[in-house]
Formats: sequence, C-alpha cells, structure tokens
Amino acid sequence: MSEGNSVAVIGSGLVGCFAALALQRKGYNVSLFDYREDPREKPNNEGNLRSINLVVSARGIEALTELTPDILEPVLQDSCELEGRMIHKMNGSQERQIYGLFGETLQAVDRFKLNNRLLDEITKVDDIKVYFQHKLRKLDLYGEKVIGVFETEDDNIVEYEFDFALGCDGAYSTSRSQLQRYTRMDYAQDYMDCFYVHLSIPPADEKGTPKITPNYLHIWPRTDHMLIAIVNPDGSFTSTFFGPWRLASELNSREKIKSFLMDNFPDAMELMGIENALDAFENNIKGALMCVQCHPYHSPDGKMIILGDAAHSMVPFYGQGMNCGFEDVRILLQLLEKHEFNRVAAFEEYSATRHKDLVAITQLAKDNYYEMSHNVATKLHMFKMKLNWV
Ligand code: FAD
Repeated sequence: MSEGNSVAVIGSGLVGCFAALALQRKGYNVSLFDYREDPREKPNNEGNLRSINLVVSARGIEALTELTPDILEPVLQDSCELEGRMIHKMNGSQERQIYGLFGETLQAVDRFKLNNRLLDEITKVDDIKVYFQHKLRKLDLYGEKVIGVFETEDDNIVEYEFDFALGCDGAYSTSRSQLQRYTRMDYAQDYMDCFYVHLSIPPADEKGTPKITPNYLHIWPRTDHMLIAIVNPDGSFTSTFFGPWRLASELNSREKIKSFLMDNFPDAMELMGIENALDAFENNIKGALMCVQCHPYHSPDGKMIILGDAAHSMVPFYGQGMNCGFEDVRILLQLLEKHEFNRVAAFEEYSATRHKDLVAITQLAKDNYYEMSHNVATKLHMFKMKLNWV
C-alpha cells in the first residue's frame, strides 16, 4: 500500500462494521469508534428500539460476497427468504405478488443480530481496534494527519491520529458536518410527512409456528397509511405502521386508536391481539423519516469520505438504505484497488460516479411509499404485475 494505512471508521452500525472488516482485509489498520455501549452487552439500549428486522437484497449480498465471503453464512444465518409481497385487502382477501420470474428473493434478518454478528467477526480480528462509548466531537482535517476528538463515557476528551477517516455515523452524522466545514459540500435534508411505529404479531404457538405465510412481505395498503409485517426467526412478525404525522396527533386516546386500527386492519388486529397492538401503538417510539442528500462525499486531499446513511439517508420503502451502504463500501474498495490505493484519485472518482445512483435510489425509495400504500392494491397494478411490467 503506497499511502499511510491507518483509518478511523466512525460509527459501528451496519455500514461502519462492514467497512471496518472490508478495509482490514485490504491491509488497512482500522480503528472503529461508536458512542454507544457495546450492543452485545446492552441489548435494550436506545438504538435497539428503532427497528427490528430488515431485508438484505442482491445489492447487499453482492457486497458481502465480494469483500467478506467467509462471513456471509454466519451473519445471515437464520434469515428468512421472502419470495414476494402478500397484499391484504380491506375485505380480508390476500393476493400474492412474486418479486421476479426467476425466483429472485430478499432475505429478512434481525437487524440487531446482523449488527452484533458483524461485531463478533470484528472482535475475532486483532488488528481492528474497537472503541465504544467514544462520541466523535471533532475531526481536524487541516494538518498532515487527521485528528479525531472524542468524548468518552466519563466525559473525558481523547484524541487519536489517523491517515484518513470514514464517516459511517448515520443520518445525523457528526463526521458529515465536520466535512462540510472543510469542503464545499452541497447538502439537503428533508423530512417525509410520515411516521412509523412498530407493532408485532406473535407466533401461533410455543413451537414458533408463524400465523401468516412467512415467505412474504405482508402489506395492508390503505392509501395514505399502511401496515407491513416481516417474519422473525422465532415465528413472530415485526409489523410497522406508516402514516402521516397528522394521524399521530389525531389518534390521541386509546379509544380513538382502537377504532382506527379495527376499522382499517381488522384481520391484522386479530393476528396481533387488539390490546397488544394498542399498547405498542401508544407506547412505542414514533420514528421520523428523514432524507439526506449531499455531494461530494469526500475531502479532495483523500483525508475523509462519508458512506451509508451519513451520505444518503433515505426512506425505508425500497428496503435499500443498508444495502446501498454496503454497496458504497464495495465500490469504494474497487476504486481504491483500481487506483493502487491512491485515496485522492479513488475518492474523487467515487463522488463523481456514485452520486447519480444515490440520487436515483433515494427518489425511488420515496416513490415506493405511494406504490406500497396505494398502487399495489389497484386493479391496474395487478394487471401490470401479471404482465410483469412492474
Ligand atoms: P446507522 O445504522 O445509523 O449507524 C450509525 C452508527 O454511528 C450508530 O451505531 C451510532 O451509534 C454511531 N454514531 C452516530 N453518531 C456518532 C458519533 N458522533 N460518534 C460516534 N458514533 C456515532 N435498509 C435496508 O437495506 N433494508 C431494509 O429493509 C431497511 N428497513 C428499514 C426500516 C426502517 C423502519 C428504517 C428506519 C430503516 C430501514 N433501513 C433498511 C435503512 C437502514 O436501517 C439504514 O440505511 C442503515 O441502518 C444505515 O446504516 P449506517 O451504518 O449507515 O447508519
């Protein structure tokens, strides 16, 4: 490797963990920082309430296969194959819509198990140092080396020096805001008028028999709001309600929530149990959906680049946020190899070529809200699906 090889990866979420493993395998000396405690020791910390399962698509699997083939099996163990969508109409009937003519599938995985398994793989490698409870406060990019300033759990400020840094610290990224002070970055952030809240469908029995077909992404489309459900390895389903924020304030009593859920999703309430659904709707955190677009993603001197949600937070309706973040890592490492590990050239080409794809997928994700909450239930859509147009 022609240049200095010490790198700070900021954020040990899904993308940061994968980036740390991939960089270490290319010979980099990696330090991974996160402000959280080790999630394997504190399974119920704040971050763990955000979402329960997610889908890994061909895009994510390609990145894992190319960069870390040996961990594909352990990290995706007990994932469940999804063959298509199952549409639950108001009259209670169901309609299967398969994803592809050639058996294409998605993998449903537990988000926290996936993150923890990536961390387990990292722990096995001696030359990745992991620093939990280190909150990035500042990145000094002006000297020969990058200096990261972190606040530790006991409020101490510590500094470390690196050849370069990768910002993988999520939608509200501190590394992105540090990079914005250093480089002329265009930046836009917008909130979609939509909140989400997690509900759940328990298994049918103690053996973990699922109550509905496990191999489908279940959708109850109701025009401006919808419910979805994805299976978990224990036979339960994580169900997520999405709707406009006005509903969050209008549904301000248990009675109102009850009649709303019973009117719109009577069959789903039977599966969940209305009291469980009401408890979850009332008490679980209501999440906001924020989109971030920026460009370029790097500093021109090869000292820093941002990947994953830090660079392109998108709404979850295409199931591609993490998958795209994994693809970021794959493409970046391909470019580093192409340019013989010259970061200036690799980062430059990354920002120049990656941007149009990230803009496109962010828009597709937004458009897919309308598709999932409305179009999937229309007759025209069914007709197009039969002709394989959508
Ligand atoms: P994050 O997962 O946000 O991780 C960032 C990490 O950085 C965290 O560990 C955080 O603690 C740390 N951090 C933050 N600030 C600092 C700091 N200052 N110092 C140190 N550490 C810091 N994507 C899919 O591909 N498929 C799906 O099916 C899917 N479903 C989704 C469903 C929902 C409801 C939502 C909300 C999202 C979904 N996504 C899905 C998107 C996916 O969750 C994100 O794209 C993915 O988590 C991004 O990973 P990341 O590592 O970039 O960021």
